[in-house]
Amino acid sequence: MKKIAILGSTGSIGTQTLSIVEEQKDIQVVALAAGRNLTLLEQQIRRFHPRLVAVWDEQDAKKLKNQIQDMDVTVCSGMDGLLQVATCPSAEILVTAIVGMLGIRPTIAAIQAGKTIALANKETLVTAGHIIMPLARDCGVDILPVDSEHSAIFQSLQGAAGNPIHKILLTASGGPFRGKTREELADVQVEDALKHPNWSMGRKITIDSATMVNKGLEVIEAKWLFDVTPSQIQVVVQPQSVIHSMVEFADGGVIAQLGTADMRLPIQYALYYPKRRNLSGERLDFAKLGHIDFQAPDIETFRGLKLAYDACEKGGNLPTILNAANEKAVAMFLDRKIGFLTITEMIESCMQNCRFVASPTVEQILDTEQEVYEYIESRW
Ligand code: NDP
Repeated sequence: MKKIAILGSTGSIGTQTLSIVEEQKDIQVVALAAGRNLTLLEQQIRRFHPRLVAVWDEQDAKKLKNQIQDMDVTVCSGMDGLLQVATCPSAEILVTAIVGMLGIRPTIAAIQAGKTIALANKETLVTAGHIIMPLARDCGVDILPVDSEHSAIFQSLQGAAGNPIHKILLTASGGPFRGKTREELADVQVEDALKHPNWSMGRKITIDSATMVNKGLEVIEAKWLFDVTPSQIQVVVQPQSVIHSMVEFADGGVIAQLGTADMRLPIQYALYYPKRRNLSGERLDFAKLGHIDFQAPDIETFRGLKLAYDACEKGGNLPTILNAANEKAVAMFLDRKIGFLTITEMIESCMQNCRFVASPTVEQILDTEQEVYEYIESRW
């Protein structure tokens, strides 16, 4: 029995991870952490019997403890709770499926505790990749990508026989607004932006896909995971989301991973790597598909992608500034406080005006996050 812990068990990745546990029947869930969804968390506790659970709020922890007093489960809260779940002694694998920079400290603690990381929480690598990747190497810990594109690159590299990457071709669906002009984007509503054409995901990443900031975050994530330069990463728009990404080698040969738009495949691949297991659900039908299209991304309309390349090239705390500004801006857009195009305007303004730190420590990354939030509050 593999033993896993999940940060963010009530979210899109978290619930799909648990659906794999349910289907495969040979994984034991030892610890779970969630935010506010106590109803779903209680159902998960009763179904999967973890011995340790964490919620963010202390009052919620008391409420949950009360709800499950018939069970032998330790309930904890706050950052301490996330750290306890991340380092739970009996877990071998930690699935990091919370959203945002909140994942940095638990991921570092899990690596130090020798856990294999199934990493969905890309914001952690985007902001602290320069700390996390060397730490994982020093601790002999594997970081297995869950993000579908990075899993596709990782899967493609299994056929590389150690040959170096010449170029990564990072595919993008283009999101719900592909082909639109900036004028057309000025008045789009939250509901429009939440309609992703191919993938069903959490709210924050769905908005990130609509702005293409998500693809920018993935460029930075790929740089850290696969040790390449930004110029070796090319974004290719492939609207059907059939090719999940590709790797080009020195001789021009390209290896790709294809599949349906089903996140359970990359999650399951990370949980069982290097083994492949049967997975229920639809398979690709190429005859039905007929064709696959490719385009260059429109980086003038979707400026977030260009800003992410800038942050990736200049490094330091710029990816943190980009990411923190994006987290705040997306939350404000979802609350209908700002328009869609203001998201990237905010990011750009923060990147121009917040203090640059060349090699930030975790504390400086978190200070940068705070500085960005204060700057946004003073201006918008
Ligand atoms: P969701 O918004 O669906 O889920 C987020 C999870 O984090 C929920 O379980 C939520 O709990 C929990 N959470 C939020 N705040 C806290 C907190 N303060 N303390 C503890 N738990 C908290 O997100 P996704 O599953 O979509 O995304 C998760 C990560 O995976 C993101 O980094 C995203 O970029 C990445 N990713 C997601 C993909 C997808 O298909 N969804 C694809 C590739 C990457 P609750 O709901 O109980 O409040």
